[in-house]
Amino acid sequence: MRIRFLAVCTGVLALGGCGTDAPEPSDAVAPAAPAAVRVIDAGEIRKATGAIDDARLAAAAEDVDNWLMIGRTYGEERFSPLDRIHEANVARLGLAWSLDLETVRGVEATPLAVDGVLFTTGPWSVVYAVNGESGQLIWSFDPEVPRSYAEKACCDVVNRGLALYKGKLYVGTLDGRLVALDAATGEVVWETLTVDPTKPYTITGAPRVVQGKVIIGNGGAEFGVRGYVTAYDAESGNQVWRTYTVPGDPAKPFESAALKAAVRTWKGGEWWKVGGGGTVWDSIVYDPKLDLLYIGTGNGSPWSRYVRSPGGGDNLYLCSILALRPSDGSLVWFFQTTPGDNWDFTSTQPMLLATIEIEGERREVLMQAPKNGFFYVLDRKTGEFISGSNFAEVTWAEGLDENGRPIETRDLDYDKEMQVVKPSPYGAHNWHPMSYSPKTGLVYIPAQEIPSPFLLDPDWEFEPGAWNTALDFSIVRDLPVGSEDEVTGSLLAWDPVEQREIWRVPHVTAWNGGTLATSGNLVFQGTADGRFVAYRASDGEKLWESPVGTGVIAGPMSYRAGGDQYVAVSVGWGGAFALAAGAAAAKAGVRGGGRLLSFRIGGTEQVPQQGPRSASLPAPPSTASEQEILAGGALYHRYCYVCHGAQAVSGGVIPDLRHASAEVHASFSELVLGGTAVSKGMPSFAGRLSPEEVALIQSYVRARAAGATGIDEAAPASGD
Ligand code: CA
Repeated sequence: MRIRFLAVCTGVLALGGCGTDAPEPSDAVAPAAPAAVRVIDAGEIRKATGAIDDARLAAAAEDVDNWLMIGRTYGEERFSPLDRIHEANVARLGLAWSLDLETVRGVEATPLAVDGVLFTTGPWSVVYAVNGESGQLIWSFDPEVPRSYAEKACCDVVNRGLALYKGKLYVGTLDGRLVALDAATGEVVWETLTVDPTKPYTITGAPRVVQGKVIIGNGGAEFGVRGYVTAYDAESGNQVWRTYTVPGDPAKPFESAALKAAVRTWKGGEWWKVGGGGTVWDSIVYDPKLDLLYIGTGNGSPWSRYVRSPGGGDNLYLCSILALRPSDGSLVWFFQTTPGDNWDFTSTQPMLLATIEIEGERREVLMQAPKNGFFYVLDRKTGEFISGSNFAEVTWAEGLDENGRPIETRDLDYDKEMQVVKPSPYGAHNWHPMSYSPKTGLVYIPAQEIPSPFLLDPDWEFEPGAWNTALDFSIVRDLPVGSEDEVTGSLLAWDPVEQREIWRVPHVTAWNGGTLATSGNLVFQGTADGRFVAYRASDGEKLWESPVGTGVIAGPMSYRAGGDQYVAVSVGWGGAFALAAGAAAAKAGVRGGGRLLSFRIGGTEQVPQQGPRSASLPAPPSTASEQEILAGGALYHRYCYVCHGAQAVSGGVIPDLRHASAEVHASFSELVLGGTAVSKGMPSFAGRLSPEEVALIQSYVRARAAGATGIDEAAPASGD
């Protein structure tokens, strides 16, 4: 464990000494700020965070100045009642401070705020405590996740944030630990391993605390795992219950009646040997009045149902919203958004609880816009389907029936020939948080349209440690260049009562930031092309924007400190699309390092600009034959593409192989088979690729380098 403990010392990064009389570092405090920024000591943090109990969490909506949970409240509306920043003065918004998170990987977390202290996370599950007024780091905690875990993470080494309860912070680490920290000091109180480390489980989602229990899920269904969610005692770290989301080996006893019922919907396959999937990797919300915990479950493992469940069936409880009793994890009701998932669709996307008026009746609803492209409104007490409509182009289904069950499009089977389907595994909406304003009655969705090719790999066999989708990824090698033009992203304001679009702002590409709605009639969103923008919530008119030096994927939040309202957002491009989508991701083109930024009216700081990337020496040309290059391309898309990008075009998070130097090419085999870059997250493929296969991959990369067009000129020189 590594804890950087900087409490009490203000300006410690720039100054030799401590003390309130020391001048403030010029890059940390805006000139217009109060002359002396308050120093926050451990005792103060202990007092503020120690008071966060069940009652405070249940009443988080009324806790105007604070942001106590990842989505602000148990219902995760991501609506701030603060209104000092509003539509008439937002044009004067400026940067108050920024904190360098010292990373070029994706930053996905939304900070928590308690009485002027921010708590957040960065890549590799690192935790930060920050003075919300000055941006000074109070402490940081690095759980020292082994970098080899990058190989087990489908979608970058990201982390989406923390839970706070009675003076402790809870973080799930990429290597599957749940760690409780003393919020005042960053010291470990307890930690427990939540996964079988021999399996490719990872944690990227934020824990939630309900009734004194820490709820945590995990990911890994691309590689082959069985999904579950676990509750741990917040005080001791002892496990209270674990609920699996899909049935295991039917020859063994079922863990619950719900799983015994579910197994009848899995037919003919041996899914349990791969895992079955259904991981709970992001969304968890809670209704304290109903005492129901809602979890979203993920895709099938493997993706393709032709091998997972060849006899058909819905494959419960994949792609479902499950309402659980938080005392024991038992299932109360379920709603499956994509029966018989075949496309890496998930219902792990953010859920949002609200009270809305439908046909003259106040309804307590749960809303979700999952990957599959439909917006759902459910009665959250019963799970009854109230309404649903597609918010993006959907080709896999013709619509929903009266029970909300999708009517699948005929003739889209991809077991014999390739099909292009919308939405894609990136989703019409993914984990990027949406928000809801009770003032406008609208939901603000980071929406996207991305077509995706599907083709069954008829020769697929389970390979431990590899991606196990049962799809033939090598087809990506031959997709027409320019297909990225069909990729779009937008900020979509959606009326959940009428199930229709109210307004939409198109963006440069997909994979934009989460949203924040505020009482000042504002919606904030960061963009893939490196801007942070405020829109009028009622009509979508752009009122303000600032460059932020890199693409944004995280959700913003708002808090009050020292009497001022701030809007904070973590910036840092990354995640699944940024890694794998190649030219479509590179199109956004702004690739700086990860930072936490905070804005206030009158802020005058400048977002630090990145220096120019160092150009590398050209790679030696390929002398391979066309056949060898094609074979290398097929291997590349099987083993390398999900991180290094389609057709060897990096989205900008990790090095673009087309720009690999002569030195890299000289040591290519050692890098791929010798594990010489494991410390940067590049795994060793020894035992999985032969030296001859690595040489073929290298010939493909060289051939792609020869055809590089310069679209990724902003690609980083090195990753971490
Ligand atoms: Ca997935």
